[in-house]
Amino acid sequence: PLVDREEIEARLDAVDALVGDGVVRSDLHDRLGEAYDLERLAGRISRERANARDLRALHTTLSVVPELKELIADSPALSDHHDRLDELRDVATLIDEAITTDPPMELTEGGVIKQSFDDELDELRTTEQQGREWVADLEAAERERTGIDSLSVGHNQVHGYYIEVTNPNLDSVPDDYTRRQTLKNAERFYTPELKEREDEIFGAAERADSLEYELFCEVRETVAAETDRIQALATAIAELDALCSLAITATENDYVRPDLQPADSDPRIEIHGGRHPVVETTQEEFVPNDTDLDSGGVAIITGPNMSGKSTYMRQVALCCLLAQTGSFVPAEAAELPVLDRIFTRVGASDDIAGGESTFMREMSELTEILHDATDRSLVLLDEVGRGTSTADGLAIAQATTEFIHDELDALTLFATHYHGLTDLADERAGVHNLHFAATREGDDVTFLHRVAPGASSASYGIEVARMAGVPTPVVDRAREVVATTTGDDTAVTGDDAAATSSDEGE
Ligand code: ATP
Repeated sequence: PLVDREEIEARLDAVDALVGDGVVRSDLHDRLGEAYDLERLAGRISRERANARDLRALHTTLSVVPELKELIADSPALSDHHDRLDELRDVATLIDEAITTDPPMELTEGGVIKQSFDDELDELRTTEQQGREWVADLEAAERERTGIDSLSVGHNQVHGYYIEVTNPNLDSVPDDYTRRQTLKNAERFYTPELKEREDEIFGAAERADSLEYELFCEVRETVAAETDRIQALATAIAELDALCSLAITATENDYVRPDLQPADSDPRIEIHGGRHPVVETTQEEFVPNDTDLDSGGVAIITGPNMSGKSTYMRQVALCCLLAQTGSFVPAEAAELPVLDRIFTRVGASDDIAGGESTFMREMSELTEILHDATDRSLVLLDEVGRGTSTADGLAIAQATTEFIHDELDALTLFATHYHGLTDLADERAGVHNLHFAATREGDDVTFLHRVAPGASSASYGIEVARMAGVPTPVVDRAREVVATTTGDDTAVTGDDAAATSSDEGE
């Protein structure tokens, strides 16, 4: 994500252009799919770790570049990317001329360098080839010369080339045959010429293999000298890939381009029909919600467990984060500020090895927020002060809210089950209450997932415990206990219409 408005707008323009042109978007996506991981390839090449297949992968990627350029040539919003897509023709040509199209993994066993790339190599390969052809013709020639029809020519790793004659025919063996190996039913021989040819073939093959390796290393070095250009291309392609992905996501999920407020205006988050980009894909029906939050505004969000408070807070933050990444956002409309930072205090974790208990960790996170948040920051507080006594926790939560409102002016969403906190809305102009409602019929609680003004008085914690599978005796006993401690059972059974406040959660 960026904090410079102009840079964000430039990305948004690019995504907008791709959202607006389905053909270019899908062609770009297809072509990008053919590109290999250029940064990794550049790294392997510059560290002399690349094999011939890596160079071929680089070539395949480079051959996509002209098509990428052509696809975005007409889009002013992508002209910078167009200019930065260096086709590296010199590198592409070198690789194509030097390296075979389907080279082996091994670099020292030949098959890596193309014919016609190097004269000496071609000569060696020709010598090798001619020698092998001579050997291939030898069997017929020797059969004719010796009159032995069963004579055969073969090769093995230990003894090299041989002429094999079965025992009954040994009398017909000519004088220039020298014995090489004795088998049960046959003898194997060589002739001076066969030996000479063999040396020639293997000598040429060996020299060719090592020459190929040398040539490959030279090519790799030449390519490695262009590492900076390859890396710059990798960055340009990666950016294009990211913009293309943002455009595809925006189109597939019905996102909208956010309006960014001028840098000098008071920050305000105004979202109409906002959604959580991940939860909306996992829920059968996601309920969109609005947000209207000013600088210095603190929204205290209450509502039953499982009603959608965390989801709502995170979707607001994700909208802002996506927008500053240059992405469209999951909403019907969004007018957003350019935030300097997003702070979150969410969930419970500890670092006992590092000397931090759960509550200590929570307080450390809070400390960081209260030190660093500004009037351009978005702060999410998903419960503060839960890991200590109710009195201390509520006191810390209240003091935190007051400090954020009075001193920091940060845009803040504070989800809490401390219903007492909702009283602050009456005392401070910037604090307002939001709540999530739920309806209850018998034991069944239905969450509406819809945010509305005002505070909520019920948490339905015991009902959620029951839904999660907590054993019935425990649930029943919890109901008894809550009825005794609250004097009646409204906290458990009361409907959840927007009430002002109750002084305790459960
Ligand atoms: P708790 O107080 O127990 O932490 P919560 O109010 O923060 O609960 P969430 O964790 O936000 O509740 O949401 C609980 C579940 O409700 C989510 O996992 C999601 O499945 C569903 N949910 C939340 N918001 C919506 C929505 N707007 N539309 C549809 N389903 C939603």
